[in-house]
Amino acid sequence: MAKKTYRGSCHCGRVRFEADIDLSAGTSKCNCTSCWKRRWWSATIKPEDFRALGGEQELSKHRPGQDTGHGGFCEHCGVIPYGWVDAAEWNDGASVSINVAALDDLDPADLVAAPVRYCDGRADNWWNPPAETRHL
Ligand SMILES: [Zn+2]
Repeated sequence: MAKKTYRGSCHCGRVRFEADIDLSAGTSKCNCTSCWKRRWWSATIKPEDFRALGGEQELSKHRPGQDTGHGGFCEHCGVIPYGWVDAAEWNDGASVSINVAALDDLDPADLVAAPVRYCDGRADNWWNPPAETRHL
């Protein structure tokens, strides 16, 4: 499967974006307390594959002066549509973590077919899956 262009939004529709995602390259779920509480299921893409289409200023972590919001939740509906990641230890520069549940034109079959990489973030063991993943 190659990259496909998806349209995404928060629940109220104020925050909108477009993302080129190759779901066959994998998605992520993690058991750390942050991902767990958000039920975060993500696909990570390069910044050049992400286009904010509007409403970034509604995001709680919006940084004024930047044309792309830096994530956070929509201050109107609470949904986290995406988040920017600048983790230096990932060595490949900035990336954008897309909430796959925020993709409006995603065919569920694409998600069913997408591999899931599990991270044991709760044990600070980010590069390996936890022993149990069924609840994530
Ligand atoms: Zn919203």
